[in-house]
Amino acid sequence: MFRIGFGYDVHRLVEGRPLILGGVEITYPFGLEGHSDADVLTHAIIDAIIGALGAGDIGQHFPDTDPRYKGVSSLSMLRTVMALVKGDGYRLNNLDATITAQAPKLAPQLSNMRERLAQVLEASVAQVNVKATTSEGLGFCGKREGMEAFAVVSLVKAE
Ligand code: MG
Repeated sequence: MFRIGFGYDVHRLVEGRPLILGGVEITYPFGLEGHSDADVLTHAIIDAIIGALGAGDIGQHFPDTDPRYKGVSSLSMLRTVMALVKGDGYRLNNLDATITAQAPKLAPQLSNMRERLAQVLEASVAQVNVKATTSEGLGFCGKREGMEAFAVVSLVKAE
């Protein structure tokens, strides 16, 4: 039996914050603003997994008013969500995600992101696809005011 889920997230780009995407720190003069490490890609993936479980959304599981999640690594939140997946008797079948960012060029870091995420998701790199696109200069991503990420996830009942 399969379950699918979809996730979407946006964070604002600001000066003086590290840029972390898929658990990988990327050298760039701007970073994403947020309560946690603001890893927009990992948040979209978490929301997709929670969606596949029919368990609400990331805000219900990790409230941004909760001091426990201040500055926390989003990979640790992903690890918590994977415990829910296993608790429900599922495992990751595959995931596909896209980051929209005008800059920096993310292509050189995509394989690192896939490896980091696959490790936490207890899956192979082939099961975890991450893509990046610009928005051709349009909208808030194009103006470098923020980044957004989309993710679809498929879970399968573990044997
Ligand atoms: Mg978020």
